[in-house]
Amino acid sequence: MFDIQKIRADFPILSRQVNGKPLVYFDNGATSQKPQVVIDAIATYYSEINANIHRGVHTLSQLATDSYEASRIKIQNHINAQFSHEVLFTSGTTHSVNLVANGFASILKADDEVLVSALEHHSNIVPWQMLCEKTGAVLKVIPMNEKGELVMADFDQLLSDKTKIVTVNHISNALGTINPIKYIIDQAHQFGAAVFIDGAQAVPHLKPNVQELDCDFYAFSGHKMCGPTGTGILYGKEAWLNKLPPYQGGGEMIKEVTFEKTTYAELPHKFEAGTPNIAGGIVLGVAIDYLNSIGFENIQKQELELLNYATEQLLSIEGLKIYGTAEEKTSVISFNIDGIHPYDIGTIVDKLGIAVRTGHHCAQPIMNFFEIPGTIRASFAFYNTKEEIDIMVEAVKKAKMMLS
Ligand code: PLP
Repeated sequence: MFDIQKIRADFPILSRQVNGKPLVYFDNGATSQKPQVVIDAIATYYSEINANIHRGVHTLSQLATDSYEASRIKIQNHINAQFSHEVLFTSGTTHSVNLVANGFASILKADDEVLVSALEHHSNIVPWQMLCEKTGAVLKVIPMNEKGELVMADFDQLLSDKTKIVTVNHISNALGTINPIKYIIDQAHQFGAAVFIDGAQAVPHLKPNVQELDCDFYAFSGHKMCGPTGTGILYGKEAWLNKLPPYQGGGEMIKEVTFEKTTYAELPHKFEAGTPNIAGGIVLGVAIDYLNSIGFENIQKQELELLNYATEQLLSIEGLKIYGTAEEKTSVISFNIDGIHPYDIGTIVDKLGIAVRTGHHCAQPIMNFFEIPGTIRASFAFYNTKEEIDIMVEAVKKAKMMLS
């Protein structure tokens, strides 16, 4: 049973006021809110378990290590990775992308090609550009169409024996497009290219199955899926993780250190230098348990209803244009109103307690494609309601009246 009032009661922040009005939180694409079980688990870790992991023989250190490693296994099962050592803890998607892009510097040669998509967040563009600058490899872009969908015929044309890695998001943060990643993975593999999937915007809405997808890498952030900030995951196939060099040197990632030569630890520790975000890693497992207790089918059903309702209501406003009208789309609506700067709308609706994101959403190439400075983005989670959408639509109408 999907009881929305019961679910909302799990999130203490949803009952607060902002600027004297009940909070309407539609900035879930930037970060999700946290349920009480997640908040409590952070306090429990620090008040009952806190110790460094993988180091001490003492009881607390073992307890912390066991909890951290149990969380890794939980995440392995959640994404259906074959081995738990294919699941690396990182600080977020950005860290995960940089880890792999940095590692590919030892693989790429001049004139090799890296394929990115036109729909990427900056964190899945810039590290690859830096890689290309370092190696002389060439960055090529899979284009998008007016609906915000990737043009698969062009992708097919771009693939060649020169392509060494293809990197694409599962779901676009700026437009909500769900990309045909299975097709992309299968096609890229025909040419022997590795595939990196940025799943930052997918994991709050669905459960990726990395073995079924057959992707080489899959990255995501904990904070967008009800978990703590500063947590993230990089899934990598064992063979690839063994092939890539470590990203950072330091404690925990070594087998043996002498001044002449250092040998590296086995996976996953080879990529986990230094003291990690122990509490965060453990509590990310709690967040995943929470999402599974709601059920991804229920999450998707609720979010699709919200998306359809909000699209219909917003389009009833004259002069309002929605960017990103892909057939396969998740609960993100990016829009503008004729002649009004998105920032001005965002500022007025904030005064009415409504949190939406305005700007380029770290996806400037998408804004350049549409020749706009930015959009207003409302991104919904399963704990949002149609009543909240009504409040936003009224607020946007009011802002439009004030600004026209
Ligand atoms: N990729 C996508 C598609 C995103 O939406 C985001 C964040 O908004 C990122 C990557 C970066 O995630 P983080 O800032 O958590 O590293």
